[in-house]
Amino acid sequence: MNKTILSFMIAVFSLSIFHAQTPATNSSSKIYESIQKLNFLGSVLYIAAHPDDENTRLIAYMSNQIKARTAYLSLTRGDGGQNLIGSDIRELLGVLRTQELLAARRIDGGEQLFTRANDFGYSKHPDETFEIWDKDDVLSDVVLAIRTFQPDIIINRFDHRSPGTTHGHHTGSALLSVEAFELANDKTAFPKQLNKTTLWQPKRLFFNTSYWFYGSQEKFDAADKSNMISFDIGTYYPLKGLSNNEVAALARSQHLCQGFGNLTQRGTQQEYIEFLKGEPLKNNDDIFDGIDTTWNRVKGGKEIGDILYEVEKNFNFTNPSKHIPQLVEAYKLLQNIEDEHWKVQKTKELLNIIEMCAGLYLEASAETNYATQNEAIKLNIEILNRSETPITLVGFKTTNNVNVSKNIALKNNIKYNFNEILKIKADQQPTTPYWLNTKGTLGMYKVDDESLIGLPETPRAYQIEFNLLINNTPITFTKDVIQRYSKPDKGELFRPFEIIPEASASITEKVIIFNSDEKHHISVVVKAGHDNLTGKVEIQHPENWMVSPKSQKVSIAYKGEERSYNFTLTPPKNASEGVISPIVYVGDKAYSKELIEIDYSHIPLQTVLLPSETKVVRLDIQKKGTNIAYIQGAGDVVPESLEQIGYHVEYLITDEISPENLQKYDAVVVGIRAYNTLDDLQFKQQQLFDFVAQGGNMIVQYNTNRGLKVENIAPYPLSLSRDRVTDENAKVRFLNPEHPVLNYPNKITQKDFEGWTQERGLYFPNSWGKEFTPILAMHDKNESDKDGSLLIAKYGKGYYIYTGLSFFREFPVGVSGAYRLFANMLSLGKENTNTQEN
Ligand SMILES: [Zn+2]
Repeated sequence: MNKTILSFMIAVFSLSIFHAQTPATNSSSKIYESIQKLNFLGSVLYIAAHPDDENTRLIAYMSNQIKARTAYLSLTRGDGGQNLIGSDIRELLGVLRTQELLAARRIDGGEQLFTRANDFGYSKHPDETFEIWDKDDVLSDVVLAIRTFQPDIIINRFDHRSPGTTHGHHTGSALLSVEAFELANDKTAFPKQLNKTTLWQPKRLFFNTSYWFYGSQEKFDAADKSNMISFDIGTYYPLKGLSNNEVAALARSQHLCQGFGNLTQRGTQQEYIEFLKGEPLKNNDDIFDGIDTTWNRVKGGKEIGDILYEVEKNFNFTNPSKHIPQLVEAYKLLQNIEDEHWKVQKTKELLNIIEMCAGLYLEASAETNYATQNEAIKLNIEILNRSETPITLVGFKTTNNVNVSKNIALKNNIKYNFNEILKIKADQQPTTPYWLNTKGTLGMYKVDDESLIGLPETPRAYQIEFNLLINNTPITFTKDVIQRYSKPDKGELFRPFEIIPEASASITEKVIIFNSDEKHHISVVVKAGHDNLTGKVEIQHPENWMVSPKSQKVSIAYKGEERSYNFTLTPPKNASEGVISPIVYVGDKAYSKELIEIDYSHIPLQTVLLPSETKVVRLDIQKKGTNIAYIQGAGDVVPESLEQIGYHVEYLITDEISPENLQKYDAVVVGIRAYNTLDDLQFKQQQLFDFVAQGGNMIVQYNTNRGLKVENIAPYPLSLSRDRVTDENAKVRFLNPEHPVLNYPNKITQKDFEGWTQERGLYFPNSWGKEFTPILAMHDKNESDKDGSLLIAKYGKGYYIYTGLSFFREFPVGVSGAYRLFANMLSLGKENTNTQEN
């Protein structure tokens, strides 16, 4: 995407939301809505597979219209997708998307839950998905979510009855939900969970259907809907000044890394859910039919309801603090009920309402946004009561049990500030997403601390408890330590307070390819977590590789400062690959992790610690030809990769394609989806074919058949299909073992198809003219062979090659076989040319 348009888009959307850390504005209408929710005792759990699968219209409706406690359980964090707004991919993309989901929930009023399942990439069938996920563990996490959240109603985004029609993760999420519906109430299922949760039987299970699942609007209109309930999800909320679908669109637009900033649909609109399981509905207008959603639901709740319904009925919009005596009374009664689940949940809601009604401002701001173990950080504590309610500050307490006693009557709108020192514990673990702490598998995150499973993010390490007396009742509010600061061009800003290691190190290049035994310079960047960091840095490397010098002294004066240390790396004479990683030694401690910041304006700043690793590959590779023209399509790093193996690559924009310009190249390589994204490329097609006729090679990487902007993608008949092979280990059969592309200058063997990542390839042609020679056959489990992954045709004196093999995924992770095969493609027909060889 065009960078200018993109940054404009981000700017526009950031205007519409509060920065994620900014304290919320607590208007009377918001307080009133919170009281309505407080007085509704029912809940909905929405289940799907990925960030963006969730129907924000329905989540917003359940939360804001029905007033139900509503959560979205996304089985994965979306690591497998693409990032349209930055370079964070894989696990870092999962961190970004987790935060985008939380940003969406802050708008639509929902909560967010996850399982340990990892989004490993596209999967055609749930059977395949369950082979890569640990099905039992993911099921266990879904059951845990149900036992913890205790939903009355579960709504699946996907249909469990149609495996194979959508992503395997999607159908998988529905299948697991259907299975977990009864298991959550089965004491023999995952019994260990019952030490800290209880059995729970949701009342009903629905499927959030739509025309999409019926193939067309007409078919859906004609479908029998006697088993469905519908909602007008366009309903208008005067208290918000927004309609439900406007709220939903704002929430959905938080998925910026997926390019979901979209137009709002206003006006009436129906959404349907189909009954699947549980107690049938007697009244088709109410999904909570037969469930008491009043305070009478809880033993001891009637007296609480008597107070709180009165507050709702006679709510004082001009001075909500008038209700504090009633709210505090309800709070006291709530502390005596036996039902732990409702006690905890409703206490949380009620405290928030009391805080809002009193206009309380409670803040603990650190002088800096990060610190290391043993460090002493200055805290500024600010307390403000903006009501006539008698409130006394009794004291506050920090996470590491520093108790400060006070006895101050907080007068209306008089600010109280206190300075305290926060001592960071000696064994304090750095802030990082808990699911990335230990290396997992392709399909699962590994979470060592079981109490964290399901949580959207790692709880903050440092908090302050504010102990108050409100109307003579002791009430405690807990706040995370944050940093409040300002920027001249942005105004007041808030950041999370993070713990970082005293030293971290990284090598900028994540993959280094060597096509000879020439040495390569690498620089290790060391970051200091505190002032006066001293120690040494070394590089761990495979035995047959050489690093010099062996060790270098580290001396960094200031906290947060980074310094580079240069090393040279010499590869062995023969093909070899391995991993190198920098280690910083400080005293008797060793640090080998890299500190990564994920910083976008629509989410709070995230710091992630990952093992600092760089893959090094010494290729055994021969090649012919030198100069390559690259026509960039949707964007890929193939040109940089080809330069790493010694080609000279120049980007050619469509306007520059001319017979004269093409003359100087040995080959033209067309980037992924170029024929889908470049409107004018069709006018240059004949010139490219002429270049081939005169002896050049043309390699076209995958395009999709939908939205193809050229009539003839090849000089001979060739039709693209949706055939793909998603198993990156699928067996590859050589259809034409004697073909030069498998023999010259590199002998291609099965070994060259080892270690591929994510997939073999996609959008293979499924029919072609007799001029083409198919080279490879491969297929996914339970499918027939696909022969269209690599097709080669002689055209005049040169070669036209079409390939759906995923070189754009394999090159960045240093798959040597992919490089060798690509070099052969470029070398076709160049047996007699005299170009430099490695
Ligand atoms: Zn999805």
